[in-house]
Amino acid sequence: MREQECPVCNRTIRPKDLDEFVKHVKRCGRENKVIETESESNSKMGNIRATYKGEKFDSKLEAEFCAYLDDEVRGEFVKYYLRQVPFHLPGNTRYRVDFMIVFPDDRIEFVDTKGFETKSFKKNKKQVEALYPVKIIIKKKEDF
Ligand SMILES: [Zn+2]
Repeated sequence: MREQECPVCNRTIRPKDLDEFVKHVKRCGRENKVIETESESNSKMGNIRATYKGEKFDSKLEAEFCAYLDDEVRGEFVKYYLRQVPFHLPGNTRYRVDFMIVFPDDRIEFVDTKGFETKSFKKNKKQVEALYPVKIIIKKKEDF
């Protein structure tokens, strides 16, 4: 594909094909909707906290994935989604998965957005998947 100018970031890019170009433009559009908020001292793993639609998110990646899901809902590829869904674990603890996504055919996916998988995250994921008949899918920036 020839060089293209992205109408959102105005950068000249050279996408492999139309799909890659569309993906880039969509991602730039989402990034514009997410506002980075000052990272607080207790922010985990140096995640940049963010605000999207007036709601606070633990990471910019999580907020961007939420914007992605809103696009998917508008396109009717996703029926609806829930945020911070708790899985109760032994020892009176719980793990909150970032997103529960319900597709038009009622299929359900659980997604966590992670730039970096910590040891405690890996342990919790294993425990949730052992106790519940679910798989937690990890999404990184390049996955959507
Ligand atoms: Zn762009």
